[in-house]
Amino acid sequence: MRVHVVGNVCVDTTFRLDRFPAAGETLNASEHSDGLGGKGANQAVAAARTGADVRFHAAIGNDAAGAWIREQLSRDLDVRHLTTLPLPSDRSTIMVDARGENLVVTGASCATTFDPLADSGFVRSIERGDIVVMQGNLHPDATTACLRTARAAEALTIFNPSPLAAGHAPDLTVSVVVANAGEAAQLTGASDPAAAVRELIRQGSGAAIVTLGADGCLVADSKGRIEQITAPKVAVVDTSGAGDVFCGCLAGCLAAGFGLAAAARIAVRAAAISVGRAGTLESCPDRREMKILMATTETETA
Ligand code: AMP
Repeated sequence: MRVHVVGNVCVDTTFRLDRFPAAGETLNASEHSDGLGGKGANQAVAAARTGADVRFHAAIGNDAAGAWIREQLSRDLDVRHLTTLPLPSDRSTIMVDARGENLVVTGASCATTFDPLADSGFVRSIERGDIVVMQGNLHPDATTACLRTARAAEALTIFNPSPLAAGHAPDLTVSVVVANAGEAAQLTGASDPAAAVRELIRQGSGAAIVTLGADGCLVADSKGRIEQITAPKVAVVDTSGAGDVFCGCLAGCLAAGFGLAAAARIAVRAAAISVGRAGTLESCPDRREMKILMATTETETA
């Protein structure tokens, strides 16, 4: 059983400054660095670290950044399904000031142009029983079409509708929707997470998970049973990417044969580890750590 993550990848350039520049002003950053980013890439890497056979379907530009992205991703997963488009690779410029506030500008021409059904071997590569994971960074029509194709191929579909596209109601007829509390409230109109998971299922999802930050997550299965999974207490360093670690790890654990609640228990722990460390992808548990999390949760649920 393979995991196909279909989504975006970009280069995140982070500048640390005492304060943000005013219009027309140039400031020197105290530090700057490039990192791999994009929700699709984050989730694909997290899934690969569970030991799953991951295919990442995403678009890169025909530039040096694209070559760099390919090389970075190849450390964790199979990059054969990356598509090169005649565009600049996607990039985010992130400015972080001394108070930890951030300003982000993103250029996402590859993600918004990418049509996985036309551009990559996606359709040919999915088989019955595979797991297909998508987020909200591609064009909403491309996302809907891909998820429908995956369903028709009898794949298990996981949809993390983040970021939510303005003015577009996503199609939630998938196997599992994973949303954070804010997104779930926006999608359902319910601020109570238990009401939100029920409503996500009413809107067509087979099962639903709402992540609750320090409070872990709520899992509702297809029979309407709801389980709260608590997160371990951690000293928070950086919560960026925690939701992506959760989704990627969840998909990888489902591929390994865990049930939904057990996979969510492992994902909660993996995401909690990531918030205790700096960085987005840098903070994701490595393969050895994932193995330990999977082995210990297996013991608890046996
Ligand atoms: P969120 O997107 O904020 O709902 O977080 C996703 C997942 O990251 C949660 O389900 C937790 O597993 C983990 N997480 C986020 N914030 C914290 C925190 N403060 N302490 C422990 N785990 C956290």
